[in-house]
Amino acid sequence: MERRTFIKNAGLAGGMIIMSPHLANAKAPEEFDFPLIDLHVHLTNDYTIERMMEIAKTRNVKFGILDHPADWAISNDADLRKYIDKLRKYPVYIGLQPIDLEWTKRFSPELLSQIDYVLMDPQRVPMGNGETLSIWQFDTYVEDTEEFMKRYMAYSMEVLNNQPINIFGWPLFLPVCIARDYYTLWTQERMQQIISAAKKRNIAIEINDMAHTPHDKFIIMAKAQGLKFTFGSDSRNQNAGRLAYSKSVAKKCNLKKEDFYIPGKS
Ligand SMILES: [Zn+2]
Repeated sequence: MERRTFIKNAGLAGGMIIMSPHLANAKAPEEFDFPLIDLHVHLTNDYTIERMMEIAKTRNVKFGILDHPADWAISNDADLRKYIDKLRKYPVYIGLQPIDLEWTKRFSPELLSQIDYVLMDPQRVPMGNGETLSIWQFDTYVEDTEEFMKRYMAYSMEVLNNQPINIFGWPLFLPVCIARDYYTLWTQERMQQIISAAKKRNIAIEINDMAHTPHDKFIIMAKAQGLKFTFGSDSRNQNAGRLAYSKSVAKKCNLKKEDFYIPGKS
């Protein structure tokens, strides 16, 4: 034990001596050339906009707030008006996260145009037999992986080709039961299909901090084809703006500020 402690300390001291001439020029570990914006933050009764603003300030991250167009959330123009009016007083981007393909019918185009951005994910996968899988749920049951991937890709294409969105959320996420096959299931061909569809309509790719998706290879492929990215925690708690995975993979892929989508800029 004593010996191990000694070696550890000696190692550290040796490291310091080697490092010291360069310390003045050493880059801080947090240094990077991209904006810190978490465009996937939800509010709750506990995590109000005021509380989220405190977190944003502490972490020095700008937030984009999302809520769902749905009967139980923002169901019509009046709700949307209230949502926008409430949030406009704060230095946040205001977004919507639709969960079905018919959501625009709830709102007038004039009011919708006041929203800063729309993020949609392909997580409610219609299986073609009347069943819809909510793939974020831990107990999602996948009977036939290839059949699932076929349906998942088809729904992703529906979202990417036809929905009026700015950001594709939760890219490449897989249900827990098949997640260990991630690198085999995300073939070059499937990844390219998603990239081409997003590229065609200038849709940015979310680097999802909760799921740790997508991985570096996908990001590098997408970047090479000119796609933009965003960071998203999908948080409704203290994790808003933490972005550990998002930042580290962005650094690894050498993303710069011009690789990021900022709401309000095309
Ligand atoms: Zn969300």
